[in-house]
Amino acid sequence: MLDKTLKQLSDGLAQGDFSSVELTTAYLDRIQQADSRYNAFVTVTGSQALDSARAAAARRAKGDASALTGLPIAHKDIFCTAGVRTSCGSKMLDNFIAPYESTATARLADAGMVMLGKTNMDEFAMGSSTESSYYGATRNPWDLEAVPGGSSGGSAVAVAARMAPVALGTDTGGSIRQPAAFCGITGLKPTYGRVSRWGMIAYGSSLDQAGPMTQTAEDAALLLNSLAGFDPKDSTSMERPVEDFLANLNQPIKGLRIGLPKEYFGEGLDPGIRAAVMDAVKQFEAMGAVVKEISLPRTELSIPAYYIIAPAEASTNLSRYDGVRYGHRCDAPTDLADMYMRTRADGFGTEVKRRILVGTYALSAGYYDAYYRKAQQLRRLIKQDFQQALADVDVILGPTTPSPAWKIGAKSQDPVAMYLEDIYTLSVNLAGLPGLALPCGFQSGLPVGLQLIGNYFDEARLLNIGHQFQLATDWHTRKPNL
Ligand code: GLN
Repeated sequence: MLDKTLKQLSDGLAQGDFSSVELTTAYLDRIQQADSRYNAFVTVTGSQALDSARAAAARRAKGDASALTGLPIAHKDIFCTAGVRTSCGSKMLDNFIAPYESTATARLADAGMVMLGKTNMDEFAMGSSTESSYYGATRNPWDLEAVPGGSSGGSAVAVAARMAPVALGTDTGGSIRQPAAFCGITGLKPTYGRVSRWGMIAYGSSLDQAGPMTQTAEDAALLLNSLAGFDPKDSTSMERPVEDFLANLNQPIKGLRIGLPKEYFGEGLDPGIRAAVMDAVKQFEAMGAVVKEISLPRTELSIPAYYIIAPAEASTNLSRYDGVRYGHRCDAPTDLADMYMRTRADGFGTEVKRRILVGTYALSAGYYDAYYRKAQQLRRLIKQDFQQALADVDVILGPTTPSPAWKIGAKSQDPVAMYLEDIYTLSVNLAGLPGLALPCGFQSGLPVGLQLIGNYFDEARLLNIGHQFQLATDWHTRKPNL
């Protein structure tokens, strides 16, 4: 049962092969037995999950089941979940029980999905390795000494190690796609505005987007059908109809125009990753796609632009953690200033403090024009580069990451080395475009992911291409030994 995709489990439930309670119990047992090795979960909501599974069964008995009713899922611990601790991987929110439910998780709960628990992540989603969590590092099931990627590393590992059939992640600069690539699963970052951000703890509000982390593109389509859509509670959510992403999966891709950005295949790309991605390109050509080289000339500049804009937004978003209304408060403050200072000094970890300092500096009078405004100008140019490229091709294809998963600790003392690993993912968030990571091979025993980037709201096409690729290859079916 635990090796099945979400779609297979959905069919199995509909046919009565097993019940939602049996399915949920199997996943909870697996988490119980395996997660001490991986540390993918911060909180397991066992009894609540069994209650939801029973409610789902009752709903099914009444003939009121959707394709998702009774299916388990794990949520990154950045989504507020009513009555359940929502820590965002931080000591600051270690004691925070969310009083309300995020729109993304509420939509899936309304469809009848069963939450297994909340997954580990880099503190406040800042990082590319899931090492900066207050709850300790998460381990990659392909190599327990390697990072799973981040910041949604717990969600990626939950799926890769069969502790959940699917999970939700969030992506501000790569945090769905990069851990998906490192763990050998499929991850979709939708277009900015496609999925509501309401109730998702904010990091970089103009960049953050929630999305599915799954075994297959088909499963991502199944989840996106319920996740996507306008939400009056999120002013940046887009009011546009949501297509049936499953219905579009079987379009032939003959004649599809794929662009390979030369900047994504240059210096710094691991040769094993290049080889795996180029094999995938050959596969697409064999399926009738037409491939051409394109240019995204400001790719390198996405790193400095992102690492100004994201910290600037983070520094304002994180000013709310002041020890007054909720979350951590220091012991025995002597006065208000002492309370603010010590609360924030011991509530936040090193990387979060670094971002707050960088962001506050970039926004301060006298530096605003030099850094923040410059970064915004670059962001506009990066967006234009994509628009130009996408006028000639239907999708852009490249690697998701320049190297496979590194060893735990290898980059934690060198933040810039870690930031450079985000080179192929950041610009997609700066432009607000959708990106899909798909497993396409291995390098030294570790998974490699390719990335497809589409035009705005072209998720249906990305998932269609991903599904066709997965019909022709079996990388997505490879699983780590447990
Ligand atoms: N690694 C990037 C950062 O640290 C992206 C993280 C994310 O997408 N949440 O900001």
